[in-house]
Amino acid sequence: MIIIKNFINGEMVDPVDGDWVDNYEPATGKVYSKIPASNSKDVERAVEAAKNAFAEWSEWRLEDRSRVLLRLSELIDENLEILAKAESRDNGKPLWLAKSVDIPRARDNFSFFATGIRHFASESHRTSDHIINYTTRKPIGVAGCISPWNLPLYLFSWKVAPALAAGNTVVAKPSEVTPMSAYLLSELINQAGIPKGVFNIVHGLGGDVGMAIVEHPDVPLISFTGGTVTGATIARTAAPMFKKLSLELGGKNPNLIFDDCNFEKALKTTLNSSFANQGQICLCGSRIYVQRGIYEKFRDAFVEKVSKMKVGNPADDDSRLGAIVSKPHFEKVKSYIQLAQEEGGKILTGGVEVKMDGEFSEGWYLRPTIIEGLNESCRTNQEEIFGPVVTIQPFDTEEEAIRLANSTGYGLAATVWTESINRAHRVSDKLKSGIVWVNCWLVRDLRTPFGGVKNSGVGREGGWEALRFFTEPKNICIKYD
Ligand code: NDP
Repeated sequence: MIIIKNFINGEMVDPVDGDWVDNYEPATGKVYSKIPASNSKDVERAVEAAKNAFAEWSEWRLEDRSRVLLRLSELIDENLEILAKAESRDNGKPLWLAKSVDIPRARDNFSFFATGIRHFASESHRTSDHIINYTTRKPIGVAGCISPWNLPLYLFSWKVAPALAAGNTVVAKPSEVTPMSAYLLSELINQAGIPKGVFNIVHGLGGDVGMAIVEHPDVPLISFTGGTVTGATIARTAAPMFKKLSLELGGKNPNLIFDDCNFEKALKTTLNSSFANQGQICLCGSRIYVQRGIYEKFRDAFVEKVSKMKVGNPADDDSRLGAIVSKPHFEKVKSYIQLAQEEGGKILTGGVEVKMDGEFSEGWYLRPTIIEGLNESCRTNQEEIFGPVVTIQPFDTEEEAIRLANSTGYGLAATVWTESINRAHRVSDKLKSGIVWVNCWLVRDLRTPFGGVKNSGVGREGGWEALRFFTEPKNICIKYD
């Protein structure tokens, strides 16, 4: 049994009240570790440590902050195998995916912001002959960083890296469902040379630890990624305290496939954009709209390929899908498959559990599922399912495709497949979403703004946006003779 500890003020520590919660391995459905069930007392200790460390860390030379964060990035790389195995075991995702995406991207988040901060600049404005304005951007204080379970280390580092690079200290909370890679990371923080108290990790339940971070008066900025309902709770709590908030929330992303697309490329990528990480990526396209001229051809080819995707032990190289992250989430996804049928949807493939043998017999596995015959306003097409479930539906015109795409309360990402450059621009321009991919999916350039509109969030992460969020601008206006 692995016993996870909090990392506070440079030390691995037990939770103050000595309470623990079980951590499950999705592939087997069994408890394999214990994590601290921390509470506001642990958060208090972490915030105190972070406050004390802020004065020194925020004055470190940029080059030095950059150097230790680069070292952390290198240490992640040196421990890539260990971290990937831990991530796969903790989350149920295929090991090959953790090795090729999650951990490399976590590594790159640290190196990107470690170097980015050295190029980050503020502005000056010459107002008239004898007046100049210049803007400073200084770190703010203790940043609260709260992240979800779907891409655990990747999204955790996506917040923590810019917060630290900008000179803030951090109290971070990974999801209680997937704490392992953040715990292993905490073993590397001292090795990298990051001073005590600068980077603290407190494990536990969202309503306890997460809320205590959000409520703490000495945490002036909160960066949160998770569900829209949780985001609303956080906003309600933080807004009266005038905290700076970045909220990256849910999605219900459309995938528009026009009849002038490159069919084979659209088909191949749609397999990924629908079911990568068991469909548990906020950017997965869960509503597939295909233009009538190629609808049947696309649908039949898609169903054939999806029905052959292997669901299995996450450690096997040929498993395209691993296990669903937790029993409650497994039940939630299954309830949506049931709902879709009640709403009149027809299951074209999937819709059932996968029964595995031996040690995996209690794990949470689902066949990738395609549902046809639902209209855009039903709950299945409006609510985030966040699992290996997509709907497919034909459309006739470009206007209809845009209307369907924009028909939910979410607006995180959209994908467009067309070989027409005019259509690509026209449609992209009309989509109400923070991110649009044309003829590709999940291509990330860390310099670009990342985030959604409507119920998908407030603010943007990535590149300068993140460094702006984690710094406070101050304008100084000087009149001289
Ligand atoms: P949750 O909102 O349930 O949890 C996210 C994090 O917040 C977890 O660490 C959770 O802790 C914590 N938390 C829960 N309740 C509170 C609270 N009251 N106060 C403070 N913190 C709290 O999301 P999930 O972990 O289920 O993640 C899935 C969701 O994340 C999906 O909706 C998905 O779309 C979204 N997401 C959005 C992304 C984006 O960039 N827009 C990217 C990835 C995911 P605990 O785990 O202990 O409950």
